[in-house]
Amino acid sequence: MLVDFRNEPLTNFQDPAFHRAMKDALEDVRRGFGREYPMRIDGRDRFSGHWIRSADPSRPKELVGQVAAATREDAMDAVEGAWSAFKSWSRVPAEARARCLFKAAAIMRRRKFHLAALMCFEVGKTWSEADADVAEAIDFLEFYGREMIRLARPHPLTRIQGEDNEVTYEPLGVGVVIPPWNFPLAILTGMTVSSVVAGNAVVLKPASASPVIAAEFAKIMEEAGIPPGVIQFLPGSGGEIGDVLVSHPQVRFVTFTGSRDVGVHIYELAAKVQPGQKWLKRVIAEMGGKDAIIVDSDADLDDAAAGIVTSAFGFAGQKCSACSRVIALDDVYEPILERVRALTERLKVAPADLEEASYGPVVDRAAYDKVLQYIEIGQTEGQLVTGGGPAEGDGYFIKPTIFRDVPPEARIAQEEIFGPVLAFLKAKDFDEALRIANGTQYGLTGGVYSRNRAHLEQARREFEVGNLYFNRKITGALVGAHPFGGFHMSGTDSKAGGQDYLLLLTQAKVVSERF
Ligand code: GLU
Repeated sequence: MLVDFRNEPLTNFQDPAFHRAMKDALEDVRRGFGREYPMRIDGRDRFSGHWIRSADPSRPKELVGQVAAATREDAMDAVEGAWSAFKSWSRVPAEARARCLFKAAAIMRRRKFHLAALMCFEVGKTWSEADADVAEAIDFLEFYGREMIRLARPHPLTRIQGEDNEVTYEPLGVGVVIPPWNFPLAILTGMTVSSVVAGNAVVLKPASASPVIAAEFAKIMEEAGIPPGVIQFLPGSGGEIGDVLVSHPQVRFVTFTGSRDVGVHIYELAAKVQPGQKWLKRVIAEMGGKDAIIVDSDADLDDAAAGIVTSAFGFAGQKCSACSRVIALDDVYEPILERVRALTERLKVAPADLEEASYGPVVDRAAYDKVLQYIEIGQTEGQLVTGGGPAEGDGYFIKPTIFRDVPPEARIAQEEIFGPVLAFLKAKDFDEALRIANGTQYGLTGGVYSRNRAHLEQARREFEVGNLYFNRKITGALVGAHPFGGFHMSGTDSKAGGQDYLLLLTQAKVVSERF
């Protein structure tokens, strides 16, 4: 019997057994550095002679592994192969499909430390961030498996005399899955298995900064019984294969998580109907954020400061949910800034696999250059409070950086930086704070620290974000509890880890039989 969904517990690394297990896993993963991973098309290994090299951002000279890079021809084969796998997979009963997900969850649970350790090295996650990433991947497997079973049950329709009516949720066909590197197991798993459990087949193009953990995922799904070809594992550059896949006339849907610019490009490309194409492609896009926390006059400032620091600097701010703006009311502006500064200066930036790291490096050279450039821009737009440049070490380390007195229209208050940079803005009252908060093109997460019931109710109505948090951090949405996804330029309003999600990956068919 299937028990109700519950979130996977996080690991307590204070426990000596878990602590040891993580240390061992890190050593073990390090011993496997430099391995070569194939792409998988129709369940068979394939090499191209070209590689995506995945380095450790804490020590960029160390090669975590390299993964075969697909060519255009590989992409064409992958789409064709996915359609042939779709023929039989779409007929497998929903419960049997779901069972593969439950099995995959069990495998991930067994390999939890190994998977977490790999993410410490491949993308620079700390122990606890990496552990939470694996837990969320398991959650997606357990949650979407149950959701599909629910969706496959009979749904009530209005009764009509002498007629039998039935609605079923059919798979769409073949989709392309383009996940991000920042939750390189969790979001990749969620995006892929939601599509697959609904009966679709997919071409999975992992992010080029995290292809090794993606290769591990592909292996796990095969072990769990997903038939060959249902998940075509196709690493490759966006330039070489991304556009080919998105514009392919045989692709029925595209799911994407990443930056606004790439999301908009995919949306436009997918909208163009190609010769021979029989449908309008569905696009599910989750894009950026410029997420704000409002600190009200009567907020608990210690609590607010802790929530702000976690939300702004966890994983070096590389979450689309991260707090990048604090909007504080006049009368608490100085005290909250002071508390946040003090906590921030206690953070330790270090190689992510070291347990003392509060956060590690940013993911690669391009990210490093981009964030440092924004810090330079910030120097002209606001006043530097702390940080302001690279942190010590050979990796892509950046000090946690805070600017104060940033005007709402400043670039560092408008553009997604995706790094450890936080802007403080001042508001004269709560109305103005909300106006500033809503004054960007994004609408993903937002937070309010307040004890004022009227203000909380006002924010509930007027704060234009998909995920609004009161008196808590604004990152770390939990599958099932906090269906996740935003408004405006933050995406197509989908809710990952929510009850509506599988509807986006299915089409409803109604059969009416007259007796
Ligand atoms: N779901 C994550 C959170 O709530 C953020 C996802 C992302 O950065 O794409 O923190």
